Amino acid sequence: MTTDSPTLVAAPALWPAQAHIPSVIDRQLVIERGEGSYIWTAEGQRLFDGTAGLWHANVGHGRPELAKAAHDQMMRLETYHIFGRFVNDQALALAERLAAISPIADPKVILNSGGSDAIDVACKLARRHWQREGRHTKTTILSREFAYHGLHGFGTSIAGLDFNREGYGTESLIPETARIPLHDFDATVALIAEIGADNIAALVTEPVQGTGGVNPPHGEYLSRLATLCRANDILLILDEVITGFGRVGTMFAAERFGVTPDLAVFAKGVTSGYAPLGGVFVSPRIWQPFYLDDTATPIFRHGATYAGHATAAAVAMCNLDILEREGLVDRVKELEQQLDDRLHGMASRRSSVTEVRVAGFMGGVSLTDDLDATEVTDAMIDRGFVVRPLRGNTIQISPPFITTDEEVRTLVDAIDETLSEQEKK
Ligand code: PLP
Repeated sequence: MTTDSPTLVAAPALWPAQAHIPSVIDRQLVIERGEGSYIWTAEGQRLFDGTAGLWHANVGHGRPELAKAAHDQMMRLETYHIFGRFVNDQALALAERLAAISPIADPKVILNSGGSDAIDVACKLARRHWQREGRHTKTTILSREFAYHGLHGFGTSIAGLDFNREGYGTESLIPETARIPLHDFDATVALIAEIGADNIAALVTEPVQGTGGVNPPHGEYLSRLATLCRANDILLILDEVITGFGRVGTMFAAERFGVTPDLAVFAKGVTSGYAPLGGVFVSPRIWQPFYLDDTATPIFRHGATYAGHATAAAVAMCNLDILEREGLVDRVKELEQQLDDRLHGMASRRSSVTEVRVAGFMGGVSLTDDLDATEVTDAMIDRGFVVRPLRGNTIQISPPFITTDEEVRTLVDAIDETLSEQEKK
C-alpha cells in the first residue's frame, strides 16, 4: 500500500448496496417514521414524500388499518408454504382477488416477494414455455434500452441501464438477452429479424419506463410492439411493478395503453410497501399445459419459502380495500392533470428544463447539463421535499395517491424555486 492509498470510510454494519458509499455515508438520511404523504428523519426533519419511496407507498404511510391486518393475520398464522399439497387460505384468497382485476383474462397468479423476484419468474417461465413446446431455440429475452427490471439474475441480465449489467465478467449474467431501442419501432423490427424470431422467447417492457427517466410510450408504440410480438410468436411480458395498482390512472397500464400481455409482473403497489410481495399474472396459453389432468403433466418448478406469504397476502387485500374504498385510482387521473399542468407551467418559466414527461401520477423533469439533478434533489431535501435523480439528468416525481391539490402545488413550487436558485449559480 502506498501512503496516498485511500483509507476506509467509517460506516455502520448495514451495506446499502445501491449507494456509492463514500458519497453518502456521512450524510445518510435515517428515516424512522411515516404518516400520510410525509416521512420523518431521525433528526426530526419532516419531508414530503414526493416519490412515494421507490414508487411504492401509494396509499401513504402509517395506515393503522394495514398494521392491524398484519397483526390479525400473524396472530392466526404468520404464513405457511405453498409447496406440494400445501397452500394457505390468504394466498388463495389474494390470487382470486387479483385474478378478477388482472390485465390478462382467466389468469393464474404466481406470488413471491417483490419485483425482481417476479421478473425472474416471468423470464424463466417464458423460456420454460418454449422448451415445453419443443421450440428449443426460443431462449433470448429482449428488453428496452434504459429499462429497469430489478437486480436479481434476470433483471441484471436484461437491464437497459448498462451500468447495472456491468462487472460480472459476461455481457449478460444469464445468457441470451438483447436490448431493443427505447422508441424506434422500425429498428426493433430489424433487430428481431436479425436475431431471428425462432431464437426469441419474450420481450419485456415497462409500459411507462420509470428509473430510465419516466418515459411514456410514444403514440401507439406499445400496441404496435404487442402486435409485432404476436406476429412473431414472442411472448410479451409487461413489467407493471411501478404502473400496477393505479399509478397511471387505471388499475394496470395495460388497460390505459390497450395491450394484452402474455405475462404481467407486479409488486410495489400491491401492498403499497406494507409487506414485501410481488407476483406474475400468467395467461391460459402458458398455464394450461401445467394443469392437464395427466400423470405426464410437468411441474414448473419454481418456489420459495415466502411465495404466497400469508401475512403479505392479508396486507395486500387490505391495501386493495383502501384503493377501492377511497377511489384512489380515479383520484390519480385528477392528480395527473394537476401535475401535468403545474410542471409544464413551471417548465415555461425555467430555462434549465429541457423536457417534462407525465403519465398518470408520475412525472419526469429533464434538465440541461448546466444543472445536476442530484444536486437539485439534495437542495429539495433542504426545503423539505423528497424527489429523486433518474437517468438522463431527470427528476422523479411520484407522490402517494392521497396527495392533495395543495401539496402538488407546493411540491412544484419548491422545484421551481430550487431550479431558479441553481440557475443563478
Ligand atoms: N421492475 C420495475 C419496473 C421496477 O421499477 C422495479 C423496482 O424499482 C423492479 C422491477 C424491481 O422490483 P423490486 O425492487 O421490488 O425487486
